[in-house]
Parts: sequence; structure tokens; C-alpha cells
Amino acid sequence: MTYTPAPRDPKAIPVHINLLSDTQTRPTPAMREAMARAEVGDEQIGDDPTTNALCERVADLLGKQAAVFMPSGTMCNVTATLSYCRPGDEILAHESAHLLAREGGAHAALGGFQITALTGADGQFTPETFRAALHPRTRYQPPQVLVSVEQTANIGGGTIWKKQALDEVAQIAKSNGLATHMDGARLLNACVATGIAARDMITGWDSAWIDFSKGLGTPIGAVLAGSRDFIDDVWRWKQRLGGSMRQSGMCAAACVYALDHHVDRLAEDHANARALARGLSQIVGLQVQQPETNLVFFTPDGAGVSGDKMVKALRQRGVLLAMMDGRIRACTHLDVTAAMIEETVGLVREIVRGA
Ligand SMILES: *Cc1c(COP(=O)(O)O)cnc(C)c1O
Repeated sequence: MTYTPAPRDPKAIPVHINLLSDTQTRPTPAMREAMARAEVGDEQIGDDPTTNALCERVADLLGKQAAVFMPSGTMCNVTATLSYCRPGDEILAHESAHLLAREGGAHAALGGFQITALTGADGQFTPETFRAALHPRTRYQPPQVLVSVEQTANIGGGTIWKKQALDEVAQIAKSNGLATHMDGARLLNACVATGIAARDMITGWDSAWIDFSKGLGTPIGAVLAGSRDFIDDVWRWKQRLGGSMRQSGMCAAACVYALDHHVDRLAEDHANARALARGLSQIVGLQVQQPETNLVFFTPDGAGVSGDKMVKALRQRGVLLAMMDGRIRACTHLDVTAAMIEETVGLVREIVRGA
């Protein structure tokens, strides 16, 4: 058994439409210029001015006291749970949550936490489901310490948690003594789609983070925000995990650039996702989940093509996307144009016709 990804096949057809993930975005020339010009210092001792400016800006955006720059979103989730919980503590999250299914078991391996997987449609659980999963504090049950939600819910279809449901879950958590954490990898997608400001969307959530290396288009980086005390604890875990950086202003400058130039344009990604879903829906036999943001999930089985076969056939035509938990996921982003969407729909139609 090997965990090493296959090396790039030099004879493979080049990818010219990359719908694999919004992590595939490349820094634009203007972003690279901003990075090159960045004022820098030593981040570990709080001396990198660009990183400090970025953290202040995100803390303000999310309505929190403080924030910290991280190499990745995964490290935001890991340092958050390590700060909130002790070994044996219970975290509640949706069964499809990144923190449960896609972080290499970090929360069990590093923290000794157990995660209770809540069920529910579209990657979300209801306030009622959450309430029903809570138990009294007894000697024999694990202490329930933290609830985590994903905004948007990735594997659920990039769906948007309604503000009212977020408020209700947070309120139930508070009245039962649990802390609240939001994996906001694509929070700004939800904000652009709904017109709700990030700080208003997450009132009631103790901590939240946003990813910059996805639709916002930076090569690296995420920022986690919360109370000053919480961020102090998070900093200690960041140091312990080797996540403290030096002249990280080079990367923070890309994030500042993204906040200035790449947030409002997320609406274009959402429009492209809707266009893709519309086009795919017109192909007989395809089952397409209507997108709320930049992720489009579909299954071609009804058209006589398995998902794996469709992904392979598209790859042979230079289109890259992936199977995710049994469905195909197409992700729109900075480097995907309306013309590429049209071409993709045409190619899917051609593959279905040939099946
Ligand atoms: C990508 C992603 C993460 C992890 O972020 P990285 O920056 O890739 O570590 C966490 N949660 C969700 C919902 C994601 O989509």
C-alpha cells in the first residue's frame, strides 16, 4: 500500500480546463507583484508588518478580537480543537466534515479527541439533530466540548448554512456549555452569495477561519480568528506544530491582495457554477445538485456512464475534475471562464452520447 500520489505522466494530455478544486488557482501576475513588494519581518515574534496587517484585517472582517496567520486551513482546524479540548473530549460535527474525514485523523492522533458524526442533508445537521446528540454531564460520558460547522458545506454540495440555523446551533451550544467553531474555508463564498457580512453571519461562533488558497487565489495561507485568549492558546499550538513562520509577509501580501481584488469576483464563480449545472441538467440521465456557490456535484450513472468513467473520459479531453464520496465534483474558480464551462458541458454531452 502506497500513499504517494502518482507522478505527473509526461505523455498525459495537458489539462486546459481545471475544475478539480479551487486550490488549483495560480497566483496572478498582479498578486505576485504585491508579494514581491511586501514589507516583511519575523512572524514568530510578531514582527512581520504585512502579516500583522492581514490578521487585523481578518479579525475585523470576522468581528473577532484577534487572528493568526496559518500555513493551511487544516492547521486552523487542528490548532483550534487542540486549544478547546483535552484528550477524551467530544467534538460534534457533520459526518462529511473536513475535520472528521480529510485531516488524516489529526484530531484523534494529536489531541485524543473523539468526534461524533452528525447526519443531515447537504452536509448540514439541523439544530434539532444537534440538540438530540447532547447528553448530560455525567461521570461516564465523554465531555462534550465543541461543535464545528462548515460554511459552506463542501461535500454537501457547497451549500450555505442559513444564518438562522447557525444562530440556533450556536445558541444551543452556549446554553449547554459547548464552544463553537466554524470551518470557514469558503465562508466568503457564502457571504458573497447571500450578501450577509461575514461578521454578521458568524455572531455566536467563538472562532472561525477563512482559507486564502482556494477561491481567493493565493498560493498559501489561512487566517483563524477568535478571542484574544483563544488566539494566545492557538499560537502555542502553532509553535508546537512547527507552524510559526518568518518572513511570511510575502504570503500575507497575497492574502491582502486577495481581500482587495478577489472577494467580490467570487460571484463570477457562482454564476459559472450555475451555468455548468444548467448545461449538465439538460443532458438526459444526469443527476445534478443545484449549486448555491462554486461547487457542482453530479452523477452520470443514469446516462449509462459511471462517475469514474466520466472523470477518465474528461481527463482524456483535457478536463480535470474528481470523484468525491461517490459523486463527481466540479469546482469553479479564478482560472475558470464561462467559455470553459460551455466547452465542458459539450464534452460531457459527447461522452454521454458515445456511451
Ligand atoms: C480545503 C478545506 C479545508 C482545509 O484547508 P487546507 O488549506 O487545504 O488545509 C478545511 N475545510 C474545508 C471545508 C475545506 O474545503
